[in-house]
Amino acid sequence: MDLSNNYDKGMRLKRYSVYFLTLFVLFVIWKLSVIEDGVDKLQLLREALELHKEKLQLSQQQLLLLEHLESNRGSNNNDHANHPVIYAVTPTYARLVQKAELTRISQTLMLVPNVHWIVIEDSEKKTDLVRNLISESKLVATHLNAKTPPFEQLKDKDPRWKRHRGVEQRNMALKWLRENFQPKRGKGIVYFMDDDNTYSIKVFKEIEKVKKVGVWPVGLVGGLNAEAPIIDPETGKVTGYKSGWKPNRPFAIDMAGFAISLDLILEKQEAQFSYMMEKGLQESEFLSYFTTKEELEPLADNCTKVYVWHTRTEKPTITGIVPGLEV
Ligand code: UDP
Ligand code: MN
Repeated sequence: MDLSNNYDKGMRLKRYSVYFLTLFVLFVIWKLSVIEDGVDKLQLLREALELHKEKLQLSQQQLLLLEHLESNRGSNNNDHANHPVIYAVTPTYARLVQKAELTRISQTLMLVPNVHWIVIEDSEKKTDLVRNLISESKLVATHLNAKTPPFEQLKDKDPRWKRHRGVEQRNMALKWLRENFQPKRGKGIVYFMDDDNTYSIKVFKEIEKVKKVGVWPVGLVGGLNAEAPIIDPETGKVTGYKSGWKPNRPFAIDMAGFAISLDLILEKQEAQFSYMMEKGLQESEFLSYFTTKEELEPLADNCTKVYVWHTRTEKPTITGIVPGLEV
């Protein structure tokens, strides 16, 4: 009697454990499928976000613009509204120091009121690195891309002067401005702001004064401590240039040493940079479209102050990559 009882109990226990195990296995299978479903959904969501990130970026920019307009309208002294918009045009290309350069430039621009940053990547496609950096800066910005054709691309071993740099990108910015603004809209100034230079916020105060084409000295360029327009003390006009390199160029001025009114940029539709221009004469030939030496407006205390430096960042030598870190 006892024996058969024990036998029954054993069987029941076994049956229960089989039930339990089956249920457990079913539960695990169900849970896994739910998780898999979730992963699938996340994947879909990710793809959707990837597809729409361009639109998201545009919406964020539109919101920022609206906020700026609102705060301009709201400000009592109308301080903001009196500042002309400075369109800062920055070509940039992928390299180890790119994020560091763009961080420096964007954080300078955060200190400048009424700036509109136009960033043009030298690439087939816009990158997330630049997209995120712009978006985190909260600057009013336009993100574009234009790839330098391979035959014009600076090779690693080439000396820097051998090729034109930033041509495609600056032209893309000019095209964008001309497509998006009507001539005679007033109050706008265009400044070519390379990603590796160093800018005092004082230079933007000078840029605000530009009527047509303003000029000022640039430090650490042209083989001198600074390149500077020479001013006639009598007339206050530019008579020549102090430069260690071809001072007789029609305009011996670095890209960082001038700014042009948006109206003028829109008026002279044909003006752009070109690979046909002689090396080192981009600035000079470009400025020739807009102005004459006599018409230049000397700024930065009659061209006696240096508020921008043509600094260059050394190419770092690295011996390895730490995975998972965006530099
Ligand atoms: N640049 C670029 N693609 C290149 C090389 C340069 O878009 O292949 C950009 C660079 O990021 C910078 C500008 O063009 O904003 C001028 O380049 P760089 O500073 O090398 O010229 P340099 O100071 O020697 O005149
Ligand atoms: Mn440079």
